[in-house]
Amino acid sequence: MNNKLTAAERKHLARVKSLPCSVCNAPPPSSAHHINQGQQYTTVALCYDCHQGSMMGWHGQKRAWAVRKLDELDALDVTIGRLA
Ligand SMILES: [Zn+2]
Ligand SMILES: [Zn+2]
Repeated sequence: MNNKLTAAERKHLARVKSLPCSVCNAPPPSSAHHINQGQQYTTVALCYDCHQGSMMGWHGQKRAWAVRKLDELDALDVTIGRLA
């Protein structure tokens, strides 16, 4: 994490991480997946498996995503809806 984040960006990231997983609804804390590196407001709340998991995760074989027919924007929509 770079330290150029503004206070508002840090607050937003903390709120994202306090949400359940946007793919499988695993309870928080979640991690914040950056759709575009360096953009804090398009981050998605994800559990470890749906984020970094080698089979299930976005950065792996994406199986948790494929079975639900979700892409990054679908999950972002869930995250934003829960922040609202
Ligand atoms: Zn998950
Ligand atoms: Zn990620």
